[in-house]
Amino acid sequence: MGNLSAHFDKSEFRCQCGCGGENPSKLLIERLEKLFDLMDAKSIIITSGYRCPKYSVKVGGFSSDAHTCNIAVDIIVNKKGGGTYAAEDIAEAAERIGFGGIGLMNGACHVDNRDCETYINNHWFGDERDGRNYIKTFQRGTVFPGEKSVDKPAEKKKTVKVTLTYDDHEYSGLLEEM
Ligand SMILES: [Zn+2]
Ligand SMILES: [Zn+2]
Repeated sequence: MGNLSAHFDKSEFRCQCGCGGENPSKLLIERLEKLFDLMDAKSIIITSGYRCPKYSVKVGGFSSDAHTCNIAVDIIVNKKGGGTYAAEDIAEAAERIGFGGIGLMNGACHVDNRDCETYINNHWFGDERDGRNYIKTFQRGTVFPGEKSVDKPAEKKKTVKVTLTYDDHEYSGLLEEM
């Protein structure tokens, strides 16, 4: 049990330069917990959380990128059965949770909340390994172990019988609730 949520501790988000900075956004923690559940993870390792502007530039980023805003993490997701998820799997799950910033990395994945929090743009799906910036979607139809919809029976939709008259002809049928 972490001191921020069920699986996360404040110290995991701390800037690695030693400045002591960290203040992860509440939504970031919430979404990471959702990701944890959806992937039924054994653990999520944060390889980089907050970066102060100086450190961000030092590791090849920008002084104002999402890591400096406390809305981003780079993560590795360990599976319960052993091994780790591929970056593409993390990205797919993260997109379903709603993360607006997602970037594939080597064996890890960058996720951030730019869609909901103050940031220079509100959407970015990319690949940090080859510099691609306009990936449309990471969805490949993967069924994750934490997916609850899988064994849920299909909901029965309400239908109503309708009859319409048009040009002296009568049309009738069932209308399904949307
Ligand atoms: Zn720092
Ligand atoms: Zn990152």
